[in-house]
Amino acid sequence: MSKIAHYLQEHLVGEVMTSVDARRYFSTDSSIVALPPALISYPRNESDVRKAARFSWQLAERGRIIPLTPRGSGTDSTGGAIGSGLLMVFPAHMNRILELDTKSGEVTVEPGINFGKLNQTLQTHGRYIPTFPASVEYSTIGGSVAMNVAGEKSIKYGSISNYVKRLRVVLANGEVIETERLSKRDLNKKLGMATFEGEIYRALDGLLEENHELIATMQRPVTKNNAGYNLIDIKDRDGSFDLSALFIGSQGTLGIISELTLMSDGYNPNTSLIMATFDDLQNVQAAIDSLSSSKELPSALEIANNGLFEAVDQLNPNQIKDLLPHPRPAYVLFVEYDNPSDRLQKRLAHHAKRVLEKLATSVQLETEPEAQQRLWKIRQVSSSYIAHSDGFKKATPLISDSSVPPERLSELIAGVGDLFRHIDIKPLALWGHAGDGILHIQPHLNLSQVGDRQKAFRLLDDYYKLVLSLGGSISGGRSDGRLKAPYLEQMYGTEVYALLKKVKQIFDPYGTLNPGVKFGTSVDDLKRLLRPDYTFGHIYDHLPRS
Ligand SMILES: Cc1cc2nc3c(=O)[nH]c(=O)nc-3n(C[C@H](O)[C@H](O)[C@H](O)COP(=O)(O)OP(=O)(O)OC[C@H]3O[C@@H](n4cnc5c(N)ncnc54)[C@H](O)[C@@H]3O)c2cc1C
Repeated sequence: MSKIAHYLQEHLVGEVMTSVDARRYFSTDSSIVALPPALISYPRNESDVRKAARFSWQLAERGRIIPLTPRGSGTDSTGGAIGSGLLMVFPAHMNRILELDTKSGEVTVEPGINFGKLNQTLQTHGRYIPTFPASVEYSTIGGSVAMNVAGEKSIKYGSISNYVKRLRVVLANGEVIETERLSKRDLNKKLGMATFEGEIYRALDGLLEENHELIATMQRPVTKNNAGYNLIDIKDRDGSFDLSALFIGSQGTLGIISELTLMSDGYNPNTSLIMATFDDLQNVQAAIDSLSSSKELPSALEIANNGLFEAVDQLNPNQIKDLLPHPRPAYVLFVEYDNPSDRLQKRLAHHAKRVLEKLATSVQLETEPEAQQRLWKIRQVSSSYIAHSDGFKKATPLISDSSVPPERLSELIAGVGDLFRHIDIKPLALWGHAGDGILHIQPHLNLSQVGDRQKAFRLLDDYYKLVLSLGGSISGGRSDGRLKAPYLEQMYGTEVYALLKKVKQIFDPYGTLNPGVKFGTSVDDLKRLLRPDYTFGHIYDHLPRS
């Protein structure tokens, strides 16, 4: 075992491992790239995280870089939860609820707590965090905040950033800071501090002041944008300042989150769900436009297409056997209302039903939980599609999660159809959050074959060009990771890209914090890191909890 491992084992309370098996296991997340860590630790507490960061900083001062990669459950499909240095795996020990105010619904947790488990606890008090990802049963809160996740309810509730009140963050040098919205007066106190924290506030405030106009150009006409760093929401017009906006979605590249205080919302299990089937894409778009422009938004507006249903019919013929008509409809929309007032909910659902009846080939409104579960099962077949493998041919998470303005979703769908035909990829199975203009597309490819690898990289290039041509963001619902790093400059242009790199430099002068994520990965690097034997295997470690 290396000297570094010996040192860390002596000084950390949590376990430190370097075995070949552990390194192999943690060399992958849910993405198509792999990178074995030199060491793995299971931090016991914040002090372990601080010691590891301080140690890495001291080595970096002497010219030796040991990258630090925080990791939750490793369900990141962008290659953000892997790294070549020390991987800090939080769910092992740092997985507790520290405080829960059942009245206000404010909850303080350690980063490794499972999102589904936290929501279960909150639901016993009539509350939950509604911006959960589809991977809620597997993922951690720390990972979800570091990705700024959005999910099926995000059309109404936004991203998880809306629910973050306060963070404790371990900085690159091991210092701990607390972030929350500061008044102008409190900001001035921070600016006067002689610590690394003070340096950060001074450098960042200066950068924001000097680059007002440039930062304004980062705004995109989409509802979700996690590309780069969120420089827009740090400083308000009133001079108040919140560093949390930067850490949310930063994937461990600016600091390591050691504690989170989150808000929650009222949970209403009694919802109205409508399923509408379509044979025409323009009608789908008209329905999305109408439903997402109303004052009272639905709590879900999801889409799936016949490519998905037909693929699942072949893989598991009984799964949705009689739940949908044959031939399978070209598109299906799922529209949910969760308003606590029964009357309002009924009114909205009936209005939506009338809108859909003018555009769809069939419309079904369900208010009973069992009937609703049957309809949701149709949307959720995507999980069988992505879990299935046909030899080495797998549903590869290549181009999931970009966002376009919702009113341009039909153009994205048509455009990606053209790409699949040109590149000769079949089938085009897609699903996603229509109300946020976000699609999930995982083409069936065999990454061990040269031909399919070439197709994969052509698709990456062409897809992001398409998304950007529609005014979209390469990273809508989740962050950039390694997979989208090569496209970040293309999205924002050279000047903004240089500004984002300056922000990274302020927090991480030695480049020890999750290097290669967001910056420093080229398409050639991706080719080198590609997993020819990509599997979705890890997910079975995190089987849904009861
Ligand atoms: C089937 C499937 C469905 C998914 N559905 C969605 C979805 O609907 N919406 C969505 O947004 N995402 C989705 N994802 C992506 C992913 O599951 C989520 O982003 C998830 O919340 C990540 O949580 P995790 O615990 O697995 O984090 P990890 O994968 O372990 O880490 C994610 C990133 O956060 C960083 N990180 C982890 N912990 C910390 C910490 N304490 N401090 C700082 N940085 C940290 C990591 O370095 C990494 O860059 C899906 C993934 C899969 C496989």
